[in-house]
Amino acid sequence: MADCIFCKIAAGQIPCAKVWENDVAFAFMDIGPLAEGHVLLVPKSHYETLDQVPADQAAAMLSQLPVLVKAVQSATGATGVNVLQNNGRSAHQLVPHVHFHIIPRKEGDAWRFNWPAGKYAAGRMEELTGKIKAGL
Ligand code: AMP
Ligand code: ZN
Repeated sequence: MADCIFCKIAAGQIPCAKVWENDVAFAFMDIGPLAEGHVLLVPKSHYETLDQVPADQAAAMLSQLPVLVKAVQSATGATGVNVLQNNGRSAHQLVPHVHFHIIPRKEGDAWRFNWPAGKYAAGRMEELTGKIKAGL
């Protein structure tokens, strides 16, 4: 995609601090880190959101995720890691080329997120269970 910043990084037209790559994906340092050591895992081909990624490409990319999490954690001394993946503007996706955030965490660090856990009305969870199963 001509206008896509992550496609340009994948093609070597924009520099990045790369930590890993294989045939289908690569990982590099996020320039606006939520914490020091924040890494992005990105497919080399352009897909806007996760639902568009072919299963074999997802497998080749995500097979590296545990190793990356471990390396980020040990390099930063983090006591925890968030893996975050945003799809669509409503989910805070600003770069429309699918990517996974690997974000090191420590007790009391600066990042807070709101987790507004709700409750289902009677029958609603079962209704949605059926709808989701029908879409697989
Ligand atoms: P998202 O909100 O999930 O789309 O996140 C996009 C991420 O891409 C942000 O964390 C940005 O800091 C990061 N980002 C944008 N441009 C670059 C770049 N040229 N190199 C590294 N990271 C970038
Ligand atoms: Zn792209």
